[in-house]
Amino acid sequence: MSDHIMNTYGRLPVSFVKGEGCYLYDEQGQRYLDALTGIAVCGLGHSHPAVAQAISEQASTLMHTSNLYGIPNQEELADKLCELSAMDRVFFSNSGAEANEAAIKIARRFGHTVKNIDLPTIIVANKSFHGRTLSTLSATGNPKVQAGFEPLVPGFIHVDFNDMGAIKQVADHNDNIVAVMVEPIQGEGGLITPANSYLKEIRAFCDEKGFLMILDEIQTGVCRTGKWFAGQHSDIVPDVMTLAKGLGNGFPIGACIAKGPATEILVPGTHGSTFGGNPLACAAALATINTMQEQNLEQRAAELGDYFQQGFKQSLADLIKQGFVKDIRGKGLMIGIELAQTCTELVKKALDKKLLINVTADNVIRLLPALITSDTQADEIIAIVSELIADL
Ligand SMILES: *Cc1c(COP(=O)(O)O)cnc(C)c1O
Repeated sequence: MSDHIMNTYGRLPVSFVKGEGCYLYDEQGQRYLDALTGIAVCGLGHSHPAVAQAISEQASTLMHTSNLYGIPNQEELADKLCELSAMDRVFFSNSGAEANEAAIKIARRFGHTVKNIDLPTIIVANKSFHGRTLSTLSATGNPKVQAGFEPLVPGFIHVDFNDMGAIKQVADHNDNIVAVMVEPIQGEGGLITPANSYLKEIRAFCDEKGFLMILDEIQTGVCRTGKWFAGQHSDIVPDVMTLAKGLGNGFPIGACIAKGPATEILVPGTHGSTFGGNPLACAAALATINTMQEQNLEQRAAELGDYFQQGFKQSLADLIKQGFVKDIRGKGLMIGIELAQTCTELVKKALDKKLLINVTADNVIRLLPALITSDTQADEIIAIVSELIADL
């Protein structure tokens, strides 16, 4: 590996040079089954023809102009996202962290301009992950992400996830609260799924208090959990929702979507992005979303998710009984298997078996397979992962 790459990642000893559907190919031409899809990015699998064609056509027509001008396919994409989410307005960014920056700026400016609060403060959750920029790492509930980057950006108060009482208690003692920001399922934190009532309770509480409810759907959004957006499992619509990972099937694009009182907060001069929502990025995202809609992949993700859950519960039944496998959880194609011990070494062992998986929070195997994974490929993933766990 080149010495000229900054050393920010512990990389596995493999380099992929080609992808097709659920498979990646390394420099020697060896094939790997991908159950991670670049961390919930390539929902349609690798090199999807519809996305590749949309990008290549747009690239040879018009790649970039500027948000100083109208961008027709950005408008089309915004209309589509608002229709799917029952929300009102979109700001496009290039990444998840930037989408969250926009959300945080909306919350702060909402505090200043609507609530007359000088030090607007957002309630966020422990074990959350919201990104690596200074404000998003400050919102993140993980000391490892923050260490060495102090002073942190102020204006965030952390409470335990899935604890409605903790949110109420903070709000009762702090007049500066303007928003509550959570992930519907904590992805990086260990695939932590809250009680079904949690998001509904936050929604009701934010309505009662006049707070903005911000849902970070950067990992859970775009059909990943078996709904277009994970908040829809709880029948709620947030005031602000952020998307990124799955939105462009690998082309970098993020979105911060607002509804109701949050839609009018950002006005000319308050926020912007050179690249955000440029014609090329929007072509990729439109092709991604249209394909998901045409192929009803929202439902496929839900069904395949159940298939994985049942498959793992069967194949790991003995290890569950023995307490070695503590939990199998998740929604749709966001699948977590929690073990009684740390298991980070499984990532390399899976690689040796030509399967790509991830371990988060040290003891949770995380699978984020493509929405186009076949039943046979799912069987293969279940068999290899179960064998790896049994061999531990
Ligand atoms: C990945 C992720 C982010 C950060 O997205 P980037 O594109 O890496 O900046 C933020 N929030 C959640 C929930 C994520 O999973």
